[in-house]
Amino acid sequence: MDKRESLQQAYVERDGVISASHSHEQCVVQLRNLQLLCRANEVFCESGKCPQHTTLEEAKWQDKADGLIFQCRRCRQSRSIRVNSIFSGSKLPLMTLYRCMFVCFLRNMSITEAQSFCMLSESAAKSIYRFCKHQISIHISRQVHQMKLCSDPTAENVIEVDESLFTHLRGDETTRTRHDTQCWIFGMIERRTGSFRCIAVGSDRTAAHLRPILERHVATHGTNKTIVYTDGAAFYSFIDECGYERRIVNHQVGFGRGEETTNHIESLWSQLKSQGRFNSGQNFTTVDQVQHAVNEVCWRVQNRHGLLETLFASLLRDNYRENSEETLVKYNTLS
Ligand SMILES: [Zn+2]
Repeated sequence: MDKRESLQQAYVERDGVISASHSHEQCVVQLRNLQLLCRANEVFCESGKCPQHTTLEEAKWQDKADGLIFQCRRCRQSRSIRVNSIFSGSKLPLMTLYRCMFVCFLRNMSITEAQSFCMLSESAAKSIYRFCKHQISIHISRQVHQMKLCSDPTAENVIEVDESLFTHLRGDETTRTRHDTQCWIFGMIERRTGSFRCIAVGSDRTAAHLRPILERHVATHGTNKTIVYTDGAAFYSFIDECGYERRIVNHQVGFGRGEETTNHIESLWSQLKSQGRFNSGQNFTTVDQVQHAVNEVCWRVQNRHGLLETLFASLLRDNYRENSEETLVKYNTLS
């Protein structure tokens, strides 16, 4: 597919997102295209009266919230069209859920905008946003488990690492902590692939804290050591001790030229910060909360050239396959 074709494709698909959120029927079609709702022939009768694998048919049913049901032609027993989907835990109309997740959340609308666009209460809109962010975090931690950065032993592996101050942790009001604590993000980016990891480390930037994080996320291969570019900070001296080769870029003489640079990680920081999740209005009290927010912006930056709708749908499908209980939209029970 050339560039013009992919642009057109993107336009059609993006336009589809909006139009699907305008009618219930189109919304069901769209969710099926995204493989987030079953088709009739994928669902079986469970009444016990029919032979195994008797498939159902779709029928209109105006009394039901979704306007449609699956029904068995033999015994007439019906099942919800949300069966085996992430939506089976919610009573909100599918169109509302679709709109809030695929239009509002993915397009970075504020909670207030989402509320009015989807005619939702503040708490319902917040819960759906929280659900989406949680799903992204599950997806990111799976990526981390699956593969380290620089895992190809035959490649020339080079990463840049750095820390950046994104936000502060608010003192807990109940304990009347007076000062906010800094929450640093430890970032690692692989030059060859552009893959990166960002870990919230709180105020602790000691070698004892950072070393296991580097080892968990970045592979090194015996004599073919992974090269790690850093600034001159003294606490990075642990890098040579654990099988990597450290190269120092001296920021005092300007940002390095050619290979001697940490420009990749610097540019990552500015992309992450331009997502604007760390400005005022965000009250983080724990490092975990910051990590959740970091995961979301990382996912958005990772996929900035892709179709978020398709990518988010596939992420939801994968999460549901792995852990269906956690990937149910339970809009009133999520906290
Ligand atoms: Zn039946």
